[in-house]
Amino acid sequence: MSDNRIRYEQPEVGIVRIVLARPETRNSQDTRMLHALNDAFDRAAQDDTVKVIILAADGPHFSSGHDLREKLEGSMDGYPTVGTWCGFGCEGVEGLMAREREIYLGFSERWRNIPKPTIAEVQGKVVAGGLMLVWPCDIVIAADDALFVDNTVAMGIAGAEFFNHPWELGVRKAKEMLFTSDSVSAADAYRLGMVNHVVPPAELSEFAMSMARRIAEQPLFALKLAKESVNAAQDNQGRAGAMYTAFTAHQLCHAHNRLIGGQIVDLAFFHRQKEIADRW
Ligand code: ZN
Repeated sequence: MSDNRIRYEQPEVGIVRIVLARPETRNSQDTRMLHALNDAFDRAAQDDTVKVIILAADGPHFSSGHDLREKLEGSMDGYPTVGTWCGFGCEGVEGLMAREREIYLGFSERWRNIPKPTIAEVQGKVVAGGLMLVWPCDIVIAADDALFVDNTVAMGIAGAEFFNHPWELGVRKAKEMLFTSDSVSAADAYRLGMVNHVVPPAELSEFAMSMARRIAEQPLFALKLAKESVNAAQDNQGRAGAMYTAFTAHQLCHAHNRLIGGQIVDLAFFHRQKEIADRW
């Protein structure tokens, strides 16, 4: 909990603010940071005095996604397992799939199902793995400079591990986002229902806090069951099943890239990376 990549704040009774505190890397996510974030969510979930959790980020950008340097060589050694998956030390796709199922899909799904309202407070760019921190939250408040990107297809992969795109953006825009690697603006995200409110950057934190205060006045048992009911409605539409199917496709792409070029992403991406990012 003392990890300096994540800050745990309790600004008011009943409200916790968890902050991504690695702005020097634009809050890129390595294994250590994701575990610290998971610890912080667990702490807030298990504290009966907490009713609402805000997830915020230091710096101009919410998150640049997974720390690619680590993603290519990451190890789970020394980290406790919080899910039921196994085989982290296995060769080939088996070990990679285990790791990604635990710290990417597994963590994001876990955070989605925390039985307390969560609010994402988002500014600047949110790239690929960054979406996997925003989308599990119940409510998204975006600064008007926020941009949402999934550039995984450009990396030779069929979408980020927490594959919630069709439910967040609708089928058409989800496909456009994936096919082009272009950014979705805060205004478009709002129009499509992915974002609850768009506000000026200077008002972002206070807007999120004022909503947290209103929610914190409500009885927690009803809040957690209301959340569970909406999540169940989405899952009854097939969300979870579709996500696990997409996750398998994601792993197939990693395996394909490794067979063709030796890395889990398409090597051509490294040459086109800047050209793609310049469009955002
Ligand atoms: Zn992956």
